[in-house]
Amino acid sequence: MVVFVMIDGMRPDSIDAANCVNLQAFMRRGSSTMQAQSVMPSVTLPCHTSIFHSVPPGRHGITTNYYVPMARPVPGLVEVARMHGKKSAFVHNWEPLRDMTRPEQLSYSWCHEPPLDQSYDDEMHREAVRVVQTQRYDFVFVYYGSVDTAGHVYGWMEQGYLDQLTHVDTLVGELLAAIPADSHVVIQADHGGHERTHGTDMAEDMTIPWMAAGPQIKTNYTIGRSVSLLDTAPTLARMLGFGNHEDWNGTSIDEMFIDA
Ligand SMILES: [Zn+2]
Repeated sequence: MVVFVMIDGMRPDSIDAANCVNLQAFMRRGSSTMQAQSVMPSVTLPCHTSIFHSVPPGRHGITTNYYVPMARPVPGLVEVARMHGKKSAFVHNWEPLRDMTRPEQLSYSWCHEPPLDQSYDDEMHREAVRVVQTQRYDFVFVYYGSVDTAGHVYGWMEQGYLDQLTHVDTLVGELLAAIPADSHVVIQADHGGHERTHGTDMAEDMTIPWMAAGPQIKTNYTIGRSVSLLDTAPTLARMLGFGNHEDWNGTSIDEMFIDA
């Protein structure tokens, strides 16, 4: 199984500042970089469309958080996985993410948007734990939205933002404990933030943490190459056992694989 965990709006420097013991332990048992780069505009829906389709916003045409069809459709990770006979599941709490795949591609999809308070991720998290424990799916996407929400309410790196990330770190620790040991896991953010916003090309908005662990991944290894969120789909594809798609612009982060 391959599990892709998104922590929306998590800045690299927030991990130590919020004392994220579970994410720190995950980095020690895997490979990571704190210098990965988002895309412009550093906004959630454009970023996720780039993550799942490995092309920049100029190519897919999604430049805001409001739905429009892709300008020229690109096959996404879930569609390519399906072509290779892989079953995918999405568990999330932000409804526009339904557009990361086309109809009839997901084997399971769960979404509920609860009230925007500190427990925003908790219900989704319980469902994510249940889904990974079933071991029915080859690929599971889990999206935690509350850290970004706290950034918009309190300001990035302010105490309310850090407290929310500490809480999500506890949830991620529970999720990781529920995932079978032979699985591969990728954890990243879509963008960072500054003051109470994001979306610019400032380093605070563009720089994101990117980390992975699993039986094929080097332990306690710092990724040396530059990493873009366009590289996530090709890397997840390698973990799932198939290759890069010809329409994708990113490349698999091969140096962190043990046989590299
Ligand atoms: Zn976001």
